[in-house]
Amino acid sequence: MTDKPQITAIGSALVVGGGIGGMAATIDLAARGVAVDLIDIDPEWRVYGAGISITGPTLRAYQRLGMVEDIAREGAIVSGSSMFLFNGTHLRDLDEPVIEQGLPATGGIMRPLLHKIMQQRVAAAGVTVRLGITVDGLANRDGGVDVGFSDGTTGRYDLVIGADSIRSRVRDLAFPHMGDAVRTGQGCWRVAMAKPPSLEKGEMFFGHKYMAGITRCGTDRIYLWLLTPHEARESRLTEAELLGEMKARLAGFGGNAGWVRDTMTDQDWVNYRPLEAKIQPRPWSDGRIVLLGDAVHATTPHLASGAGMAVESALVLAEELARADSAEAGLIAYEERRFERCRDVVETSVAIGAAQLAGSPPDQIGGMMGGALHRLAGPF
Ligand SMILES: Cc1cc2nc3c(=O)[nH]c(=O)nc-3n(C[C@H](O)[C@H](O)[C@H](O)COP(=O)(O)OP(=O)(O)OC[C@H]3O[C@@H](n4cnc5c(N)ncnc54)[C@H](O)[C@@H]3O)c2cc1C
Repeated sequence: MTDKPQITAIGSALVVGGGIGGMAATIDLAARGVAVDLIDIDPEWRVYGAGISITGPTLRAYQRLGMVEDIAREGAIVSGSSMFLFNGTHLRDLDEPVIEQGLPATGGIMRPLLHKIMQQRVAAAGVTVRLGITVDGLANRDGGVDVGFSDGTTGRYDLVIGADSIRSRVRDLAFPHMGDAVRTGQGCWRVAMAKPPSLEKGEMFFGHKYMAGITRCGTDRIYLWLLTPHEARESRLTEAELLGEMKARLAGFGGNAGWVRDTMTDQDWVNYRPLEAKIQPRPWSDGRIVLLGDAVHATTPHLASGAGMAVESALVLAEELARADSAEAGLIAYEERRFERCRDVVETSVAIGAAQLAGSPPDQIGGMMGGALHRLAGPF
């Protein structure tokens, strides 16, 4: 029990997907008195080894879950970022505004550490977690949802939340008209490794045909991301080929991006992923089944805001359910508050990627990013 307003409109919820959005929803609903079951399809409940950039608005959302101190301890908190020409020439420093008093400006953390922090909070909330299963059937009936699980068991809940990401099974079962996220034509290369000795805060590199950036994720860890036009053969690269292919695409970069290229080895985590995005059409709920996170607002990393949007959506869902006198009213209010903000993030991120592919000048791209981040600093 916490001092958060309690939810009376529902008594039980099933959260499908124990990623960033699903765990945020689980933690906040449990804090508001809802009996939550959480399931994840991964029997080991892992997350891949990349780092993640945490913007000011994302930190604000994590603060509502009381997790900023944990992120600061396990990750990195920085005051802004530096812009460089691709060859390492310093252009300027950007002090990112603190959007709420007492809140750090921005930061980064390794995904497995963020996952562990959130998993510990889920465990502390006394939630039932079942791993290695998914949902096979969902039926709205008499003000609740009858659920069939893939292990043959069944359950009944007042609310089912689909937080099972970009290939959402809940979406396929309950919202078959929505369809998959769409490839944007760009791909993202990432390497997670030791911090370049001279790097203090985030760095971004402009003027190359590919855009790159480095996010600090701890005292001695960083990840570097590189955005390139997607080619079909890249999805078929083996793990052994990824390292050399990424190094080749970093040719010409100087400064810390050049240091990363010259220092990365096959012991470091290297990954390539074609980018996909889609803001799904409204409504985002059907009866007592609702979607959040990448299942319904999947975005590209251009504004580093996908995780922040997932956490915000989880918080708003819990807040609106606490305000409402029926689940249905809470779900409508949730969607009203979330749709335009998530649409802005998805559509602006895709537009920035398209501008990069078209070779638009850095100032134009910087302006698009700055404008969106300014809008995101507003209340959610
Ligand atoms: C290349 C790249 C870089 C990114 N960088 C950033 C960044 O720097 N900052 C940022 O804020 N965002 C970033 N994002 C976006 C961010 O990772 C996502 O928006 C965020 O993880 C979405 O959270 P989610 O809970 O919806 O899904 P996820 O975090 O993906 O979690 C989904 C969970 O559901 C589980 N699951 C999947 N299918 C099923 C099923 N059928 N049944 C049960 N469980 C299931 C999975 O095992 C997983 O645990 C990036 C995305 C990409 C592609």
